Amino acid sequence: MGNAWSTDLRHFEGLFGPDALHAPEARRIAEYFGSIAMAATSWYADIPMPSAIRCRRRPKRRPCPGHINLVRNGKSGVIEWNCSSCDDYGVIDGWQSTMWDLSRPEDEDDPEVDLLLSDTEHRALCGINELDKDSLRVVMSALTARNGEVAMAASLEEMEHLAGYVAAAANAERKRARQQLLDAAGQKIDAAMRRAETSGAVVLPFPGVTAPGAQPKISATLLEFAEPVLEMLDDETPIQAIEDAMQMVVTVWNAIVIEEWGLATGMLEEARRLMQSGVPALAPIFDKLVDRKRKKFGGDLRGVGKVEISRGADGGLLLKAEAHQPSSLGELH
Ligand SMILES: [Zn+2]
Repeated sequence: MGNAWSTDLRHFEGLFGPDALHAPEARRIAEYFGSIAMAATSWYADIPMPSAIRCRRRPKRRPCPGHINLVRNGKSGVIEWNCSSCDDYGVIDGWQSTMWDLSRPEDEDDPEVDLLLSDTEHRALCGINELDKDSLRVVMSALTARNGEVAMAASLEEMEHLAGYVAAAANAERKRARQQLLDAAGQKIDAAMRRAETSGAVVLPFPGVTAPGAQPKISATLLEFAEPVLEMLDDETPIQAIEDAMQMVVTVWNAIVIEEWGLATGMLEEARRLMQSGVPALAPIFDKLVDRKRKKFGGDLRGVGKVEISRGADGGLLLKAEAHQPSSLGELH
């Protein structure tokens, strides 16, 4: 096994204060875990994220080609992450209200502008020191696409705001190579904004995704999908256990959706691991669920957020869930 990291970010903030000790290696590690927390908090709770953060390990002295996959638990806030290529993984807690907390505002606008950047262009954007929280959120919520490019989406206003920082940074940059990267990224952002302004269409940030038609409520879909799991339960099963089982079902669903969005691979193996450790009783039907999702619900590309279970007056199960679309990344129900 690789390294397992358990990190409480509150312990790291002191490294960056005015009284900070000079500890470059500790700071580098803190910055790395901090960037994972920034990505996780700029994205939706309970929906796996193939982030644009590159693995920092160097197995056999070569940079690991992987990126960081992560999921932030909406209830506990705990961020679980792992590398898509090597076996580095860990959990991060205590990020709330630290300098790495980029939590989205409630009234956030839907993304209207989307674009693809090269990995090095995206990293040049990450390196702009002056970015404010809104622009940092746009940059850190970027995803790794399957071809290794980086997919970024934001509202027109947010993207304009970011474009201002990029232009200023390119102007001030003295290193020619970095200036070229910033210029190239700036041009792609400008082109994407012009596209969005003229088309006025729904944004589809992820290649290969078509706009959703009329779909049944996500809660009804999930209950149908979860049938093999519900069959394993009876009237005596505590609500909490049912909720845990359903959250695991949702994890499998989301992992397949993320892969079908044309983003990272490896999410499914991560889901299998989560199920084995979280609700081992379901592990034997993992492959059955995967098969069921692909065959019966293959065209349904909604990501699912938090799930709540209760019992109705007649003893039947009631399920509440929120759906996220890759097209608008907004809530549907
Ligand atoms: Zn790695």
